[in-house]
Amino acid sequence: MQLTNRAQQVVQKEMTLAERLYLPALFAGLSITIKHLFKKKATLKYPEVKREFAPGYRGQHVLKRDDEGRENCTACGLCAVSCPAEAITMDAAERKAGEEHLYREEKYAAKYEINMLRCIYCGLCEEACPKDAIYLTDRIVASEFTRGKFVYGKDVLVEKMDDRIDVSQRKKHYSIVNN
Ligand code: SF4
Ligand code: SF4
Repeated sequence: MQLTNRAQQVVQKEMTLAERLYLPALFAGLSITIKHLFKKKATLKYPEVKREFAPGYRGQHVLKRDDEGRENCTACGLCAVSCPAEAITMDAAERKAGEEHLYREEKYAAKYEINMLRCIYCGLCEEACPKDAIYLTDRIVASEFTRGKFVYGKDVLVEKMDDRIDVSQRKKHYSIVNN
């Protein structure tokens, strides 16, 4: 019984001299290579040249400070609770007299850690944050050789006042997506 009409008779014909020297296959391969020389390249010379990310790209987190340099995070724990990967841990502490210039509210995160190997960059932490404190940025998490180095503490996450991270595009993207 014939199921399709695609059956082909295999013919074992004698190869020509050119075929025996692989010439047609060589020229076919070379023509593909030459064609690609004149095409726009799909790759970039990273890290010298970087590809522009989509506005919704979610990379390394930042813990924001306000314009006076005080940390916005109040260690409420909502980001940790909303994190499906259980990547966030923190210890809360009470602000002492004289520390008003460091922390915006009376409670702050004495320790705040994100395990970047657990994180799935879903962005739920920034959605849950009521204090405008945590955002995902377009920064790339650097490669490391040991697992421990992927646990980022406040020294990495809190933004530096001399190197502020603009999250206005991120906020704009959120308002477009959520409205
Ligand atoms: S981006 Fe998602 S997985 Fe990563 S820390 Fe935030 S909530 Fe957790
Ligand atoms: S980052 Fe936001 S949600 Fe997380 S503990 Fe700080 S204030 Fe709360």
